[in-house]
Amino acid sequence: MGALDRLISTREAICRAATDCGRDPSSVRLICVTKTFPAEAAVPLLEAGHRIFGENRVQEAAAKWPKLREKYPDIELHLIGPLQSNKTREAVELFDVIESVDREKIAKALSEEIAKSGKRPRLFVQVNTGAEPQKAGVLPENADEFLAACRDLYGLRIDGLMCVPPVDQQASPHFALLADIAARNKISELSMGMSSDFELAIQLGATYVRIGSAIMGERDYPAPPSA
Ligand SMILES: *Cc1c(COP(=O)(O)O)cnc(C)c1O
Repeated sequence: MGALDRLISTREAICRAATDCGRDPSSVRLICVTKTFPAEAAVPLLEAGHRIFGENRVQEAAAKWPKLREKYPDIELHLIGPLQSNKTREAVELFDVIESVDREKIAKALSEEIAKSGKRPRLFVQVNTGAEPQKAGVLPENADEFLAACRDLYGLRIDGLMCVPPVDQQASPHFALLADIAARNKISELSMGMSSDFELAIQLGATYVRIGSAIMGERDYPAPPSA
């Protein structure tokens, strides 16, 4: 079974999960995570009409996606990995959605870059729901304040929240926490759920699921920590 078959069966599973909990399947969008795979691996999916992709490293995305975009201009590319402030220019250039806004330095750099470039990627804030020291993301207890700072100090519109739950824990409390923070801040997009837990994320309100290995196959070498 190739990536295209797995894309199709993953789409079906998403549809089922949404329908089962009374949601409109079109309210859940699938980000196919192509990190560590070469550009050619995305071509069959693009040819079949899939357009939403995720990468966790700016450099890797820069090497793959501008070429593909020439042929498929309506790609929606998401940055789902950490962003360094010296990479914000490149990130604003490359990505349609940046999901890893998580500190004021980045918010400030993005706000300056957006003003300069005239490009307007959609922005999500990453929340470190498990308060893991090695993981990126704003702490849950600081989320409201950070969201207010993005809006009031940096003029940034935040459209979504993203989280990566700890690998060794039940994901549902983390998804519920993210949904809660989003609801009280009137944020509509929730990027949560990966290959192993996207059905649960859909039950808890995910509007984007980020799926890599279930579609692309196992990654050859471990991706660097995405958080
Ligand atoms: C790699 C990655 C994914 C996809 O993970 P799979 O388990 O392969 O589906 C999702 N989100 C982030 C942030 C990632 O780095």
